[in-house]
Amino acid sequence: MSKNTPQAIRGTQDIFGPDAEAFAFVVETFERVRRLYRFRRVEMPVFEKTEVFARSIGETTDIVSKEMYSFEDRGGESLTLRPEFTAGIARAYLTNGWQQHAPVKLATHGPLFRYERPQKGRYRQFHQIDAEIIGAAEPQADVELLAMADQVIRELGITGVTLHLNTLGDADSREAWRAALVEHFRAVKGELSEESQERLEKNPLRILDSKDRRDRQFVADAPVIDQFLSDEARSFFDAVTSGLDAAGVKWKRAESLVRGLDYYRHTAFEFIPDEGSEAAGKLGSQSTILGGGRYDGLMESLGGAPTPAVGWAAGIERLAMLVGASDTVLSDRLTYVVTTEHEGLEPIAWRLASLLRQAGSATDVILTGSVKKRFKKANSLEADAILVVRPDSDKQSADALIDFKVSDEEQRVDLEMEFEDIASRFSEVEFAEEYHGFDAKLTFLQ
Ligand code: ATP
Ligand code: MG
Repeated sequence: MSKNTPQAIRGTQDIFGPDAEAFAFVVETFERVRRLYRFRRVEMPVFEKTEVFARSIGETTDIVSKEMYSFEDRGGESLTLRPEFTAGIARAYLTNGWQQHAPVKLATHGPLFRYERPQKGRYRQFHQIDAEIIGAAEPQADVELLAMADQVIRELGITGVTLHLNTLGDADSREAWRAALVEHFRAVKGELSEESQERLEKNPLRILDSKDRRDRQFVADAPVIDQFLSDEARSFFDAVTSGLDAAGVKWKRAESLVRGLDYYRHTAFEFIPDEGSEAAGKLGSQSTILGGGRYDGLMESLGGAPTPAVGWAAGIERLAMLVGASDTVLSDRLTYVVTTEHEGLEPIAWRLASLLRQAGSATDVILTGSVKKRFKKANSLEADAILVVRPDSDKQSADALIDFKVSDEEQRVDLEMEFEDIASRFSEVEFAEEYHGFDAKLTFLQ
């Protein structure tokens, strides 16, 4: 690399190799599971007018006060690279009249941008999978959304992660709790971190979210929401927890869980690795992998009618860090590499590869370079089987004699079945087993 080569932007990643496979596996799993729950896919703009985020997320939150990438475009308008999905989806719901589809279950994924201090598991461009149910006021929506999150994590093979669940109550409960928290923390104001002293006036709930040790001791004996819950808010929370139990989703009550954003009401939750678990070890201090909650107040902050909604987002990079590499790269079907050591037979080998791919099998091809080195190269790709195409000396025709080079008998049987299947699907080939000492013969009919 010359000194002249520009460096990547701090906090961005170029993802390659097993990390990229794990990333793709997370997205594919999410796409599959969201279909099982019948969430509809949406594609959202990467940037919005700055006010979309400022008005909905809240001016006093970390995101809006210090993490947004905002800039003026050439027309002098203030725009912001999305720091989260929910605000943009809410804006789209209002501007496109998606009320007509309500209640609507939406899913998306893609890059987000936050100006944060980069470290392991924390980037300035990162990626999320995101799911939202808009226009549904009933606690069953929270349960369905959480069951989906739980299933995504389980199908990724991630263990040792638990759903931490809290309620923030309705507006009245939250207000009474807020007043009690202010009183509690004001009594020890001088001993709080500078940041929390500031939060005390603007956003006291956020003190509960503080990672500063000076604050943690006072958070431990702070008043809890349960003392202030209205009957309605309590029965909503009870319905969520009993629904989760019925759905078989394990959860744990987390009384000081508040989430950073202003718009949450009722249910708030995070999936967090259990202390001492392998997952916690892999993630270090950046431990929350998925977070969300109910945001009944959000649409109004954007000028819409009151609209109940609930959603979550999970960091793809953090999920990918917890996914075992072996789960991701291997597909459940055999994978092949096709080669030939005979010059002139390349077109047959290409044709064979194309049939395999059309039949749904992942296939690599090694057909360039010195013929003598091809087999060695093919071997290094670690496919389940190498298919070596050889000339049929009996006949000067487009036949392929194929050495399977499989590692066990079971794979050989699978392979024979697959070849029979290919021969039955594509009329241009005939398949014969064990032909003159070769494993198989494919005859390409003219
Ligand atoms: P944190 O407390 O880690 O800053 P957050 O509350 O800001 O998280 P959310 O806004 O709830 O995060 O985003 C949901 C998920 O997105 C997080 O649980 C995490 O997995 C991921 N995430 C958030 N910020 C980043 C980042 N800067 N880099 C990588 N992943 C992130
Ligand atoms: Mg954050």
